[in-house]
Amino acid sequence: MNTFADRHIGPDRDSERRMLDQVGYGTVDELMDAAIPEVIRWHGGLNLPPAASEAEVIAELRALADRNTVNVSMIGLGYYGTHTPAVIRRNVLESPAWYTAYTPYQPEISQGRLEALLNFQTMIADLTGLTTANSSMLDEGTAAAEAMTLARRSSKSGSPVYVVDADTLPQTLAVIEGRAEPLGIIVQVRDLSAGASALPADFFGLHLQYPGASGVVLDHADLVTAAHEVGALVTVAADLLALTLLRSPGEIGADIAAGTTQRFGVPMGFGGPHAGYLAVRKGLERTLPGRLVGVSRDADGAPAYRLALQTREQHIRREKATSNICTAQVLLAVIASMYAVYHGPDGLRDIARRTHARAAKLAAGLRAGGVTVSSEAFFDTVTVSVPGRAAAVVAAAAAQGVNLRQVDADRVGIACDETTTDAHLVLVWKAFGVPAYTGAVEAALPDALARTSDFLTHPVFHAHRSETAMLRYLRRLSDLDYALDRGMIPLGSCTMKLNATTEMEPISWPEFANIHPHAPAAQTSGYRELITSLESWLAEVTGYDAVSVQPNAGSQGELAGLLAIRGYHRSRGGHDRDVCLIPSSAHGTNAASAVMAGMRVVVVACDENGNVDLVDLDAKIEQHASRLAAIMVTYPSTHGVYETGIASLCAKVHDAGGQVYVDGANLNALVGFAKPGRFGADVSHLNLHKTFCIPHGGGGPGVGPIGVRGHLAPFLPGDPLGATASRTSHSARAGGTAGGAAVSAARHGSAGILPIPWAYLRMMGAEGLTRATGAAVLAANYVAARLREHYPVLYSGNKGLVAHECILDLRPLTKATGVTVDDVAKRLIDYGFHAPTMSFPVAGTLMVEPTESEDLAELDRFCDAMIAIRGEIESVGSGTWPRDDNPLANAPHTASMVSGDEWSHAYPRSVAAYPFGVSRVGKYWAPVRRIDGAFGDRNLVCACPPPEAFE
Ligand SMILES: *Cc1c(COP(=O)(O)O)cnc(C)c1O
Repeated sequence: MNTFADRHIGPDRDSERRMLDQVGYGTVDELMDAAIPEVIRWHGGLNLPPAASEAEVIAELRALADRNTVNVSMIGLGYYGTHTPAVIRRNVLESPAWYTAYTPYQPEISQGRLEALLNFQTMIADLTGLTTANSSMLDEGTAAAEAMTLARRSSKSGSPVYVVDADTLPQTLAVIEGRAEPLGIIVQVRDLSAGASALPADFFGLHLQYPGASGVVLDHADLVTAAHEVGALVTVAADLLALTLLRSPGEIGADIAAGTTQRFGVPMGFGGPHAGYLAVRKGLERTLPGRLVGVSRDADGAPAYRLALQTREQHIRREKATSNICTAQVLLAVIASMYAVYHGPDGLRDIARRTHARAAKLAAGLRAGGVTVSSEAFFDTVTVSVPGRAAAVVAAAAAQGVNLRQVDADRVGIACDETTTDAHLVLVWKAFGVPAYTGAVEAALPDALARTSDFLTHPVFHAHRSETAMLRYLRRLSDLDYALDRGMIPLGSCTMKLNATTEMEPISWPEFANIHPHAPAAQTSGYRELITSLESWLAEVTGYDAVSVQPNAGSQGELAGLLAIRGYHRSRGGHDRDVCLIPSSAHGTNAASAVMAGMRVVVVACDENGNVDLVDLDAKIEQHASRLAAIMVTYPSTHGVYETGIASLCAKVHDAGGQVYVDGANLNALVGFAKPGRFGADVSHLNLHKTFCIPHGGGGPGVGPIGVRGHLAPFLPGDPLGATASRTSHSARAGGTAGGAAVSAARHGSAGILPIPWAYLRMMGAEGLTRATGAAVLAANYVAARLREHYPVLYSGNKGLVAHECILDLRPLTKATGVTVDDVAKRLIDYGFHAPTMSFPVAGTLMVEPTESEDLAELDRFCDAMIAIRGEIESVGSGTWPRDDNPLANAPHTASMVSGDEWSHAYPRSVAAYPFGVSRVGKYWAPVRRIDGAFGDRNLVCACPPPEAFE
């Protein structure tokens, strides 16, 4: 009987046999015994529940979902009910053409999602009134924290003080404080409702919430002026829906705007994932962290999109890094942008007016019933005084199926959104003991702050009002792109494996999608059980004692893990331990995270075999002995090799008093065979969007949980709303009970997508997971074995074997023929493939990770293409084709190019379009020719160009 594992793993038994023959082993076990060093090998199996079928897992998830209660949510605080238009839900959120795509580093095959992201940036820039927005931050809290560090870099003030208005979302404040402390930034929370007189004399930045967490809408113009007078930068955390009616942050003089786009059609998901946003005024665009989509041109001079200012990411520059954000929230940004495309400016204004009208009516009814409503000016949220009765009112509302926010013993917060109905208002009034109100209602938005400027004037926000037009727009864009639904994406380090439909289905169930992160515990027992079991399974898989799923990307897991190490050292008086050793081959986020955790990065060399140089390690340990905080190593290494020195590396660092952080991005090569928590590491992050099947979404969402050994458990990320959140002093935290700083705005981070890894683990079971690892390692070694004679495989470990990926060294060929990795990557598009990882971790190479999910036919199709390309390189080398006019240099070839009336190239059209093995039916055509990135960086355009540009 076929199991889920048989469907998740590509090669069947017969294929496995043939692959083993090629690699030269009798069984997968023999291969794994040879590949994995015995010192790290785990022979104890995995203690997980036995594998369940797809149908059983859906039934189990259904039962868990049924234990969540979907109340009407009027809690607000940055999370709102929203109607995801069905055409967007089904054709984006539930469409593999969108959700299985990778980050658009290969822009020629990513024009669809790049256009959607450019729409997102245009939407944010327009609504905030600022010039440049990136495409996307991880949530509002982290966006606000990035705004703080951006302000510090750009402010001329030497002050370490960052002022945060007291009416800021509490979870945002917690994340800001957690990020500030290791950087020596002093956060001062001030009640600024009375104006600039409450500001300190000196500060480098100011954070304002607009409207405030209480719902109040204030004119912040005087505060902005006062801040600018002392050289400080101002961030306004603004609600996008409110901005359709209110003067924009840009118009009141703000330098930066930050926030979330959740209420633009993205379900609450118990806290995430949602796309955060960050926008800046003119002059600050080159300091923006995150990914910025820009317009450039292709080889024909036609406009084309690509990520701007990237030599991978402009902000991840190792020890000079300014941010560690890598995986962002692309899929959610696409959804939010499409919400704006579908509704257009008039539709959004209409939704905002309806939302405001409900809030105004709610307030009028409460006032008529004798209840005190604190604020006169508000958009969608009111704070109501009910001395001594807040808990009772909140309970009465909950009993009727409506969640309100208990601010304190005397006050209740109530937020309206586009899903609020008059019937909901009646229930709220009832909870307050007030009769239903039918009288007059006056708008409560201050006239002086009324928005008069236009927004979303670009035609894209006007042309898709009918569902037919919207459906076709979504289809047209996704047809431009190459995602896993077309073929393999052999990206080293990224583990682009199957995202099974059964894993995906539950995330759009209302019982998972429509839960507010602050919903009462009694309404979320299904979610909490799911999270607890997922955390315990991940602990079992990794050998750690405790796991936190809060970090919403691998980068955030790194920060959380390093902060745990920092907290641990400090709890033992090790305040001076601030040196983080990082091998030269590390992923850029590692060093960036170390900098953010207040550590100094010291690079450890690699030897000629690509392994961490243990002699240099000894020297660096000796040099920094008493200051050594940690080492961060990736295992298997980013070179795709199981290093045999890992155990001794761990021991050396421990002996010197340091902690060992193992970057778990490559866990796909370990599951079932080795456990970092048992071979010497103290903490790791995992990328659930790599090893555990959360789709990449075109560059996010992700989940980056960390596992820790027992001594670090007290320093795991705290609840951003809890008393433990960073308001408490460090010594209190160091007591071991208070918990670490929050690294994400929601306690469980991107909880809404946790059913995906849960389902994967549940359907695979111990045996399936272990088999998957063997299949992944076999696939990588098969590709290495087939390609080795055509391209040197740069590094290998025991017995010449690689782990789950292999690096193909093109440098000798480049030297001999002038053909670059870029040429090969682009030529692969003509062959119907996404390129492997380019020039990471070694410049001039390609890193191939086939994963266990690709079947032998697809692996062979890839190998055949690479071998055929090798032949083409030969033809360039031998002079058959000129160096500047050959199928590699001109790749990718578009349909319009090869069907043009003129053809003057040195090779025939058929070679351009249908090289060896490419079917004439259903070929994927790149929509643009090779894109000139540098041109776009010199002429930075990060919003939608006018349609005439495309004529
Ligand atoms: C992907 C990756 C990261 C970063 O993870 P994100 O989820 O993109 O933030 C870190 N280290 C390695 C080795 C990786 O491959």
